[in-house]
Amino acid sequence: MEIKSIPFNKPYLSGNETKYLNEAVQKGHISGNGDFTKKCHQFFEKKWGFHKCLLTTSCTDALEMCALLLDIKPGDEVIIPSFTFVSTALAFARQQAKIVFADSQENNPNIDTTKIEGLITAKTKAIVVVHYAGFACDMDEIKSIADKYKIAIIEDAAQAIDSYYKDKPLGSIGDLGCFSFHETKNVQCGEGGLLAINNKIFAERAEILWEKGTNRAQFFRGEINKYGWVDTGSSFLISDLLAAFLYAQLENIKAIQQRRSKIWNTYYQSLKTLEESGHIKLPAIPQFATNNAHMFYIVCANLKERTELIKHFRKHNILAVFHYQSLHKSQYIKERDLGTQSDLPNSDKFEERLIRLPLFYELKENEIQYILETIHSFYR
Ligand SMILES: *Cc1c(COP(=O)(O)O)cnc(C)c1O
Repeated sequence: MEIKSIPFNKPYLSGNETKYLNEAVQKGHISGNGDFTKKCHQFFEKKWGFHKCLLTTSCTDALEMCALLLDIKPGDEVIIPSFTFVSTALAFARQQAKIVFADSQENNPNIDTTKIEGLITAKTKAIVVVHYAGFACDMDEIKSIADKYKIAIIEDAAQAIDSYYKDKPLGSIGDLGCFSFHETKNVQCGEGGLLAINNKIFAERAEILWEKGTNRAQFFRGEINKYGWVDTGSSFLISDLLAAFLYAQLENIKAIQQRRSKIWNTYYQSLKTLEESGHIKLPAIPQFATNNAHMFYIVCANLKERTELIKHFRKHNILAVFHYQSLHKSQYIKERDLGTQSDLPNSDKFEERLIRLPLFYELKENEIQYILETIHSFYR
C-alpha cells in the first residue's frame, strides 16, 4: 500500500457510537444528566473507584469546577507545572490567583516534586499536578507535602485515563481529578470531560455548580420537593448525545488500550538504538507508573535538531508535532503579573526539544514502519 500522508491524530469510532446516539434520540432525552450520562458515571465509579463522577463539557470545565469548589480568591496561590496545557492554569488565573509555576524533572516533563515544598507559602491553596503522557507523578510524595501543609491536590488527569500510580488509578488520588475526552485523547467524544470527586466534602456542592447553581439533581432524585437557585455555577454538564458516544468508547476501552500499547511498544523497541547511540531521549517511565499509551514522544538534542526533524517528517508527509510552550513565559500571565517568573530550565527544555509521533488506533503497521524509517534516516 502506498502511503499518501499520515496525520498526527485520527478520532477512532469503536463501533456502537452511532447506534447509541440513535438510542439517545429515540429515548427523547438528549440534554444533560440522562441515561447515558448515568451509565458513564457508573462505569467510572465502578471501574476506577472514584467516589462521585460528573461528566462535563471538557476537562477545561472540570478544572473550572475545581477552582470554584476550592473557592479560589484573588491573592490565593496555586502551584502548577509550567510545562502543561493552558487549561491547567486558566480557571485559577481567572479567579485572580497567583500561579506559582513549578519546573519539570530533568528526564521527565512531570512536576519536580523535590521543588514543591519550597514553593509553599501561607497563601497556597492547592497543587495541581499533571500526569504528562499518562505517566503518574510521584503521588505519595505529593500527598505527604499536601497533608503536611493542609492544601488540596487536583489531578489534571486529562491524558491519564486507565493509568495507575502503584495500584491506584490516576484521578482517584487527589481531592479532585479531571479527565478529557477531547478527540486527541485515548477515549473521546469530540469534546468532553469528567470531574472525579474523591474528597466527599466537595460532592454535594459539585452537583449544584454542575447544574447552573441549582439543586436540580437532588430534586430529580426525589430528595427535595422543589428546586431553586442556591449557589454559583454554570452549565457544566454534557449533552446525553455525547455521553452516548462516550459510552460506546468506554465499552471498548480494553481494545483501544491494547492497540495503542502495541503501537507505543513498536516505536519504543525500534527507537531504543537511537537512545543508546546518544541521539535522542525516550520517555523515562518511573517504577511506580503504568503506561496507558496516550502519547509517544522523543526528546531531541536541541531546538535546531527538532525543527529539522519536524521538517524532515513533513517532507515525508508525516505530521509530528511539538507540545507546550512554558506557561510561565506566556503573554497572558506576564501582562497581568499573575504568575511567578523564575527560570524553569527543564520546562523550557521540553518546550524546545520534545516532539510527539502520530499515535492513533487506526495507524497501520506499514505506516508505523514508514514513520520509524523516516526517523532512522534522519539520524543516519
Ligand atoms: C487535553 C488537555 C486538557 C484540556 O482538555 P479539554 O477536554 O480539551 O478541555 C487539559 N490539560 C491537559 C494536560 C490536557 O492534555
